[in-house]
Formats: sequence, C-alpha cells, structure tokens
Amino acid sequence: MSTSSRIENALLGGGAALVGLAGFVACFWLLLGQGETSTPREWLAAACGTLWLLAVMYLAHRVARALEHARAARAAAAQAMLDAARERERDLVVAQLASDPHLEPLWPLICRWRLTDRAALESTLQRHHALLADPRRAHHAAGVLQGLRWSDAQLAYFDDPAARVTCVHLQPVEAALRGAGRQCWPQGQAEIGTEAALRFAALRAQLALAASVRESYEDEHPHAPPREYLRCTDCRSAIESGGGAAFPPE
Ligand SMILES: [Zn+2]
Repeated sequence: MSTSSRIENALLGGGAALVGLAGFVACFWLLLGQGETSTPREWLAAACGTLWLLAVMYLAHRVARALEHARAARAAAAQAMLDAARERERDLVVAQLASDPHLEPLWPLICRWRLTDRAALESTLQRHHALLADPRRAHHAAGVLQGLRWSDAQLAYFDDPAARVTCVHLQPVEAALRGAGRQCWPQGQAEIGTEAALRFAALRAQLALAASVRESYEDEHPHAPPREYLRCTDCRSAIESGGGAAFPPE
C-alpha cells in the first residue's frame, strides 16, 4: 500500500470514528426524549437502541466494502485473463515469425525479445544485408542481429579511432577513453556516451582540463542509476557516463 493510500485510509478511519461518535450521541439524545428526565429503564432502552442502530450502520458499511472488494477482484481476474489471451496471441505471432525462412537470420532476435513488428523486422533484415554487402562495414552486420541499431555516422566513428565528436576542451577525455579501449559512441550534437565511472579529480589532474569543463549528475529515470556528465559550458559539448569500471582506473 502506498503512503498516500495509508494517509487516505487513516483520514477515512478518523472521519468514520467521528461520525460514529456523533451518531451515537445524537441517537442517544433522540431516543432518550431530547433531555427530558428519564427512568433508568428508559436510559437502558435508549442505549441499546443506539448501539443497535450503530451496529446496523457498521454492518452496512462492511457489506459495502466487501462488495467493493469482490467487484475489484472480478475486474482484476478479467484483466488477467485478457492479458493471458494477448500473451498467447503474441506467442503465436512470435512462433510464426520465428519459423519464416525469409527472416531466418533474425530468428534468435525474434525469440529473445519476442518481436512481432514485421515492418521493423524487415528493416533490420535490410540493414543486415546492406552492411554485409559493404566490405568496409561487413564486420558490423553481426551486431544488427544482436539488436544493435547504430547509424552510419556511429559506425564510421567506431571504425576511426582518431575520430572525435566532443569539443576541444573535452577531447582529451574522449581521446583517453578511446585510447584505453573504452567503448564510446556519438549521441546528439558534440556528445558521446560511454560506460565508465569517471573520476573527475583524477582526469582534471592528469589531463589539465579547462575551467569550462564541469561534472554533473542527473536522475533521468526513476528506475535507472543516475547518469554522470562531463559538460563543457562554453561549447555545449558533453560526455555522458554512469556505471561501468572507474576511469582512469584506480
Ligand atoms: Zn568546450
């Protein structure tokens, strides 16, 4: 149960208790003849009547809650059946595609990710064939079958160890990463991504980085680890990182 649900339930419970207490006092007052002098017998009858009324109200509330729960359980069961039917339908499509001879190179990919979008699969197959047909880029064809979707510009970057994407102030870091064999990939304008836990102080000391180069952390997604950035504030260039082994190594 979430915190907001707990607070909501506590407020509802408190409200119900107050209403119950007010009801008890009101019923008792009315049944007793609105404050007129009464005998002990009348007091007892009023108290019993009040308790009986409150018990009926409480039971009605419990019955309403039980009906609500039953309705929610029926809806959840219906949704689960619908989901299961959809999954079975998808299983059939996956099995169909994973036995289509035309798509044979993609069979492992289809089964692994349960891919069912035929247009996307055709496009992946075309990309695979295009890379295979180009002797300079044929070594990237296998990656396509693993689900990698690098663009032509990214593949050209991978094939040229001297290529740099970042600004002149970040290039010492990019060069050090690539020189150490860390995978880097261009992404966006003047930006690369890399899997490395950048040790900013060590990099600054070793590479004499410019003052415009700053480190920052960003929570881009609530379920993913925070991303780490080295940004050049002068040139709007960046190296995105986060996770991976420390760099430079400790
Ligand atoms: Zn710069």
